[in-house]
Amino acid sequence: MPRAFITGITGQDGQHLAQFLHDKGYDVYGMVKGQSNPRIAALVEEMPFIETIPGDLADLPSLVAALEVSQPDEVYNLGAISFVALSFNQAELTANITGLGVLRMLEAIRMIGGSQNNPIRFYQASSSEMFGKVRETPQNEATPFHPRSPYGCAKVFGHDIVVNYRESYDLFACSGILFNHEGPRRGIEFVTRKVTNAVARIKLGLQHELVLGNLDSKRDWGYAGDYVKAMWMMLQQDQPDDFVIATGETHSIEDLVQRAFAEVGIDNWTDYVRQDPKFFRPAEVDLLIGDATKARTELGWQPEVDFPALVSMMVQNDLEIEAKKAGIAL
Ligand code: GDP
Repeated sequence: MPRAFITGITGQDGQHLAQFLHDKGYDVYGMVKGQSNPRIAALVEEMPFIETIPGDLADLPSLVAALEVSQPDEVYNLGAISFVALSFNQAELTANITGLGVLRMLEAIRMIGGSQNNPIRFYQASSSEMFGKVRETPQNEATPFHPRSPYGCAKVFGHDIVVNYRESYDLFACSGILFNHEGPRRGIEFVTRKVTNAVARIKLGLQHELVLGNLDSKRDWGYAGDYVKAMWMMLQQDQPDDFVIATGETHSIEDLVQRAFAEVGIDNWTDYVRQDPKFFRPAEVDLLIGDATKARTELGWQPEVDFPALVSMMVQNDLEIEAKKAGIAL
């Protein structure tokens, strides 16, 4: 059985990837951090096949030990301080975990290495936030980076150090430059889930307004379930390389809000939405739209869930969750 080691296993992508790899017959090891982290119990209850290993991206010896225990064929580094807004308040922590954490993981791989015939294959979760103030539209693998947040800056470091270690030490290391990807497992702090959850609660009479920041920025939103497949596909290639993963469509936050309200039959959405400066960011990424031609032609990857289906999936999921919590029959 092939073995995979995943950091960030309690996050959205970690959960999707763990299930995907398990279904493919992998032994799945997940790194978990902290003492009595409440997310671990919930994850293990849902996916009892995951072997958890304690460790922290801030602690190189713990990464080395985790690789020694798991002896993986593939390492997926999905762990990060991943929320852009938080990265402005905790910039040093973000640089340490999201940026330097990649370097530590690469060093741990160099130390443990795998066998000559079967070196460890490494996947780094790079991000469209690296494009930031975009230099061209749409963005592809050759588009220069111009990050707009401490998160984006840390991801650029992570991306560049993967390229450097691949070139310097001949590691099998790939970066997936993933555009925003969402789904029912998305954290409530991200705008898609914040909107779909609020819309569900408003429909059920549990909440009366939705308070947001900038409604004009545009994102290329795909479905996380489609995107973790691309991560795995990258590591099955003969040669390591970097790939943009995106849908090639962009929508504003306003489009998202309108569509989510329409899903529950509410057309006068402006009556429910208020803007508050506290949700605006010191610097914004105005427009993201990815060109995934390389992934399509070289990996044979393409997204299966489009934007309307994604919003519908998320709203329906939140309706079920919130109705159940409140004891309301749908
Ligand atoms: P990001 O692209 O990784 O920053 O993903 P987010 O889902 O956090 O934010 C996407 C966009 O939504 C950004 O341009 C935010 O400024 C915008 N946005 C507007 N209102 C909100 C809000 O209340 N919460 C979040 N998270 N984003 C918001």
